Amino acid sequence: MKIKTRFAPSPTGYLHVGGARTALYSWLFSRHAGGEFVLRIEDTDLERSTQEAIDAIMAGMNWLNLDWDEGPYFQTKRFDRYNAVIDDMLVQGTAYRCFCSKVRLDALREKQMANGEKPRYDGHCRDSQCSHTDDEPHVVRFRNPQEGSVIFDDNIRGPIEFSNQELDDLIIRRTDGAPTYNFCVVVDDWDMEISHVIRGEDHINNTPRQINILKALGAPVPEYAHVSMILGDDGKKLSKRHGAVGVMQYRDDGYLPQALLNYLVRLGWSHGDQEIFSLDDMKTFFTLDAINKSASAFNTEKLQWLNHHYINHMPAEEVAVHLAWHVEQLGIETRNGPELKDIVKLLGERCKTLKEMAESCRYFYEDFHQFDADAAKKHLRPVARQPLEAVRAKLATISPWTPENVHHAIQGTADELGVGMGKVGMPLRVAVTGAGQSPGMDVTVYAIGQARSLQRIDRALAYIAEREARG
Ligand code: GLU
Repeated sequence: MKIKTRFAPSPTGYLHVGGARTALYSWLFSRHAGGEFVLRIEDTDLERSTQEAIDAIMAGMNWLNLDWDEGPYFQTKRFDRYNAVIDDMLVQGTAYRCFCSKVRLDALREKQMANGEKPRYDGHCRDSQCSHTDDEPHVVRFRNPQEGSVIFDDNIRGPIEFSNQELDDLIIRRTDGAPTYNFCVVVDDWDMEISHVIRGEDHINNTPRQINILKALGAPVPEYAHVSMILGDDGKKLSKRHGAVGVMQYRDDGYLPQALLNYLVRLGWSHGDQEIFSLDDMKTFFTLDAINKSASAFNTEKLQWLNHHYINHMPAEEVAVHLAWHVEQLGIETRNGPELKDIVKLLGERCKTLKEMAESCRYFYEDFHQFDADAAKKHLRPVARQPLEAVRAKLATISPWTPENVHHAIQGTADELGVGMGKVGMPLRVAVTGAGQSPGMDVTVYAIGQARSLQRIDRALAYIAEREARG
C-alpha cells in the first residue's frame, strides 16, 4: 500500500504545539515508510480563517523543517469539486434535499430536549419531498445508514464502534450552497489518496460520519489514528495560560527546532527509554502503535534540558545560524568580533536558550555602558589596580594572540604577584565583560580581542582611580 498522510490544519490561529506534534507524527509516519505527506489548509470556515493564520502555520512548518510533497491545498479553492460530488450523490440517492424550516427544526430540538433526548434530525425530508421544488431554499443532507454500526480499528486506541442510530443525517451543503466541513474532509482524503489519517482525538466523533460518507461514495476508507491531548503541567488542557503555545513563540524564546521536535516526538511516543532522537532516528523508529493513548503533560524544564543538549551537541555552525537570528533581533552588529560559532562554543554550557545566549554575548561585540554595580563594587577596588596593571602589560605584548598565550599572561601575573588566579581573574573579568560572570577568562579575553580588552582594562583602571580619589 502506498503510504500517504496529511496535516490538515484549520487556519484560525497560530500553529500550536498540539498541531505541530500531530504534523510531526503524520510527517514521520510517511517518512518512515518512504511515503508522501500532504499539507492541506482547511479554510472552509470563512469567518474564522485568516491569512495571518495561514502564514503562521507555514512559518511554523518551515521553521520545524517539516516539508510536504503536495500542497498546500486550500479547501476554499475546491468548492466546485465538492459540489460536483454532492450533485452526484443527489442523483445516486445517497444524499437528499431537506426543506425543513428553521422553525420546524427549532421546535423539533426543543421537543427532543424536553423529552431528555439528544437533539438530532428526524429524517423528515429523507423520503418525502414531493411538495417542494429544487429552487426553494434547502440544505443537502447525507443519507446516513439507519441500521448497524460503524467500527474502525484506531491505530492508537484500538477498535472503536459507533451505532448508526446515534448519527443523524448530516448537512453536507448549506442553504447558501457551501459544502460543510466534514464533507470536504472526506472528498479531500479520497481525492488525495490518503492512506492514514493521523489527527487529534477531538476528531474521533467525526470519524464514523466520514467513514459512512466514504462508503457511500465507494471510496476506500483510510486507516485512522487519533492522538491524545497535550495538557499543561497543571493537568489542564494546554492553552495560552501556560505560556508559549504557538510554535514560533518557541523560536522567539530561543529554542532550536531540533530540540522542539525531539521534545514533541517524545511527548506521547516512546522507543525504549531513549530520550535523544536525531531526525534520522525518529524516521527509523517511528510507529503509530508506540504512541501513548493517554494525554501527555507539557514540561518546559524537559524542553529546556533538550535545548541545552542540542545547543551543545549540534555542530556549532548550525546552532550559529539560529543564534544569528536572535542576535539580529537585539540589534547586535557582529562583524567586528568573534564568529557566532565561537560564541556557541563559549557560552553553550551556560545557556539553556539561544535568547539567553544572544543577550549574554553583547560584550563580545559592543562596549558596555557601565559596570554591573555589584560586580564593580566587589572586584574593581583599589587592591585590584596592581593586578590589572600587571596583566594589562602582559596582554599588551602577546603575539600571536591565542587563548594559550592569554592564559599564560593571567597565570604569569598571578605567579609574579604571589596571589591566587582569582585575584587577577575577577577584576579582569569585570573589566572586560562588565559583569561578574563569564566563561573562562583566557577564552573570553581572547574572543574579545587584544585592542578591545586593553581599552576596557584602561577604563576599569580609570574607574578604580576615580574610586580611590573619592576615598
Ligand atoms: N482541520 C482540523 C483541525 O485543524 C483537522 C481535521 C483532520 O485532520 O481531519 O483540527
